[in-house]
Amino acid sequence: MTNVRRQLWLKAVEFHGHSCPGLAVGVRVALDCREEMDLTSRAKDEEIVAVAETDACGVDGIQSILGCTVGKGNLLVNRRGKNVFTIYRRSDGCGLRYCWKSRGLDGMTPQARTELFLEAPQEEVYTVTPARYPLPPRASIYPSVFCDCCGERTAEPWLTVRNGQMICLDCAGKPFDFSGRAAV
Ligand SMILES: [Zn+2]
Ligand SMILES: [Zn+2]
Repeated sequence: MTNVRRQLWLKAVEFHGHSCPGLAVGVRVALDCREEMDLTSRAKDEEIVAVAETDACGVDGIQSILGCTVGKGNLLVNRRGKNVFTIYRRSDGCGLRYCWKSRGLDGMTPQARTELFLEAPQEEVYTVTPARYPLPPRASIYPSVFCDCCGERTAEPWLTVRNGQMICLDCAGKPFDFSGRAAV
């Protein structure tokens, strides 16, 4: 691995909190994508957009290296239980879909799998094809208003009208939705 790639891997380990094969999946995709799509610097705004089909360790590699983050709105997590990452360049809409396929070999230590994922020839660890879906629209910024019931500031699309009042999801009795998270 080149020095630059090694440095970016170490930064991702620091961001994620530990070194693991799952992180190596996302880092490998991000490092290769960075070169293939000529994304030399981390996204400052929304110039790079990632759609992740998992919320497991690998997505932290995408965040750390490509600068696609939930807060900037250029990381969309669509949980489908797959180590699949589609990366777009907003300037021309070009998008590539990286589908991870390697599991490592039976009996390999996590450390050995991590190294394999970072170093193995591309065709052994993932496939890359054109994006299946067009570039997602830019992130929206919504005005916030005060909930008529609890008084907490809430972005408008998440308010509902009840008895002529604008109320938030909490006051409407809607529970948090963790249904996309697989049981462990
Ligand atoms: Zn991990
Ligand atoms: Zn409320």
